[in-house]
Amino acid sequence: MLPAFRKLERDADFGEKPWHGADGPLPIRRYLELEPAPAHAAALRAFDDLGFAMVRDHNEPGAVGAGPMPMSSSDGERVTTADAYLPAGRTPANLSIRADSPTAEIVFDGDRAVGVRLLDGSIVRGRRMVLCAGTYGSPAILMRSGIGPASHLRAMGIPVRVDLPGVGANLADHPGADAVTGYDGSAQSAPNLHSIATFHSAGAPAAGPPDLMLWVRDPFGDPPGFEIDAVLLKPRSRGSVRLRSADPSDPPRIALPGLHDPADVDRLVEGYRRALDVAEHVEVRREVARPDATYPRTPADVRRTVQEGAYSVPHVVGTCAMGPAPEDGAVVDASGRVHGTDGLFVVDASIIPEPPSGFPHLITIMLAERLSERIASTR
Ligand SMILES: Cc1cc2nc3c(=O)[nH]c(=O)nc-3n(C[C@H](O)[C@H](O)[C@H](O)COP(=O)(O)OP(=O)(O)OC[C@H]3O[C@@H](n4cnc5c(N)ncnc54)[C@H](O)[C@@H]3O)c2cc1C
Repeated sequence: MLPAFRKLERDADFGEKPWHGADGPLPIRRYLELEPAPAHAAALRAFDDLGFAMVRDHNEPGAVGAGPMPMSSSDGERVTTADAYLPAGRTPANLSIRADSPTAEIVFDGDRAVGVRLLDGSIVRGRRMVLCAGTYGSPAILMRSGIGPASHLRAMGIPVRVDLPGVGANLADHPGADAVTGYDGSAQSAPNLHSIATFHSAGAPAAGPPDLMLWVRDPFGDPPGFEIDAVLLKPRSRGSVRLRSADPSDPPRIALPGLHDPADVDRLVEGYRRALDVAEHVEVRREVARPDATYPRTPADVRRTVQEGAYSVPHVVGTCAMGPAPEDGAVVDASGRVHGTDGLFVVDASIIPEPPSGFPHLITIMLAERLSERIASTR
């Protein structure tokens, strides 16, 4: 996957490296030349004092610790995929965009996907179909097309084309819990700088990816707030996407994973405690005049606060998971092709089989770079 990451990236801070691209369409900035806001700078000093390694390049292989968050950003503004990949002011001749034209289902000729039927009944045909409707949209389209768990499809009155139990299952997310600091200063003007501190929970293997993250950013919002967010990067809890009916205008029923698995609560509590260590550190307290009286104190209070306050970051993945074996829950193969079909692919965050130890946007673009080459070489 590394060549595809390098292909998409234009790292403005570190340039060409074995793990960085310098010429891709997506600019990556950390704004290393700028000073974070005083409260944010104080949190970085607190991380240092609390024993986090200081990391300038979080995308360097093996980087674990605290430092600036790499952002797809330019002049303080988030750069979207459309900004980066579409020429400004015109649509390329080989691309036509139909806005507000939801896809109802896939049209097949035998096992081969030959088009999509839109909600208005019209059909768009093509040699290959690539679904990019996201972690909620892609499994819904597949299920409406008869591709999914047979029992659910039958219950919806949809004829089963391919029994694929993994469609709409395995919905994974990054749960978070915020330690608000009681900040009563002003907001920082753009660019709003972010830092992250990654680490391993007590039971996680040190050689594996970090499973916890603390996230701080310059004060923002109205009234301005400053928070230390704990994020569980490798949760075990899973939710699902299911149809309400066969009617394509009916939105799917989404059951977010939440914190169903008690081990996830334990680890997010561990992350939240570290967030409180930072929020209550003398460096941060010096910048945050009004101590927040609502901090939970006892272990039971901390646990309840996390269970009641946890939210979806939201980084949903996994509902059309990539893998070799449909019986183990895989939906697409290593080319993004839907198992048991011809000419039908899914390329979006839904094929990421498990929650990544980072944020999913760049991974999704990497998948598009990598799989577009593979798909182009299929018949
Ligand atoms: C508020 C928010 C903040 C986020 N911040 C970050 C961040 O800072 N960093 C990061 O890495 N990730 C972030 N994410 C996650 C990131 O946006 C997603 O991982 C990424 O967009 C996934 O890309 P995708 O192509 O799979 O899906 P999407 O970007 O969701 O694209 C799917 C598209 O398909 C369309 N669609 C759905 N159903 C149909 C249909 N039936 N017919 C036609 N079109 C359909 C949808 O309208 C949508 O436009 C954030 C997400 C949210 C919601």
